[in-house]
Amino acid sequence: MLHTVCYNITLDRDNRKGAAVLNLTRCVIAVALLAILVATQPAFAAISIVAAENFYGDVAQQLAGPNTTVSSILSNPDQDPHMFEVSPSIARSISTATIVVYNGADYDPWMVKLLSAARSANRKVIIVADLVHRRAGDNPHIWYDPATMPAYAKALTAALMERDLPHKPDYELRLQNFLASLRPQELKIAELRTKFAGTDVTATEPVFGYMAAALGFKMHNERFQAAIMNNTEPGASDVVSFERDLKDRRVQILLYNSQATGAAAQRMVRIAQQAKIPVIGVTETQPSGTTFQGWMMGQLNAIDQALSNRS
Ligand SMILES: [Zn+2]
Repeated sequence: MLHTVCYNITLDRDNRKGAAVLNLTRCVIAVALLAILVATQPAFAAISIVAAENFYGDVAQQLAGPNTTVSSILSNPDQDPHMFEVSPSIARSISTATIVVYNGADYDPWMVKLLSAARSANRKVIIVADLVHRRAGDNPHIWYDPATMPAYAKALTAALMERDLPHKPDYELRLQNFLASLRPQELKIAELRTKFAGTDVTATEPVFGYMAAALGFKMHNERFQAAIMNNTEPGASDVVSFERDLKDRRVQILLYNSQATGAAAQRMVRIAQQAKIPVIGVTETQPSGTTFQGWMMGQLNAIDQALSNRS
């Protein structure tokens, strides 16, 4: 627009003085408009994503462009996310973010409070649980559901393209690459399901629940797991059934969440070890130095090995 209007001034100047003045005015207005546009759209060059959990941050890093900064709030695999408390620096990072991602389904209720305390008209918020129709009361560890990351990746890519339209093809390509990178995991799940569907397993916390269901496992002791997750004491009869499962070897593996290490959970690990039931460590925060894909594959391979080498 700027180019056309200013170019017309030179054409008109020879013909009619009035038209030249009119076009000069238009030119000034166009320059002013352009200046306002540039001033009000810095988000184009600097998209900042804040993810409440580091696996959503990792996937964001894989999907976003070079002009994007990504930071994650929960990133310590030695901490229990269900006990997390917010610091002022976290509140500040959220108030300036372009795109905010959090799990939802009551896993990270502190995010809801942070967002309402730092309102922003231009911020896009992605609640991953909403994308896969999970809500408070459901098992909140939804990133272990194989359907979740593809849904999140698509929603995030749409949000990125909306803010940076000129790079749409780049975002589309990165999305396709990401979805393709999940293929080995999908094949592994199908393979394990064929080999081990119907296997009885148990866990100290429901962190691996959706993946266990995808593998066709029969999960024992879910009430005990919910109590550990909510940092409450498991019921006496739930403790008894859990111990019996282990001592009588009614389950083939114990999935142990190393981020929820209360006495009740640790006791089950000891009993499992005495009964020679493989204990497989799973975490709910992505360990540093891994990718989401590598993290998931590592856990699936550990399960494959434990079940294949059963005595
Ligand atoms: Zn958990």
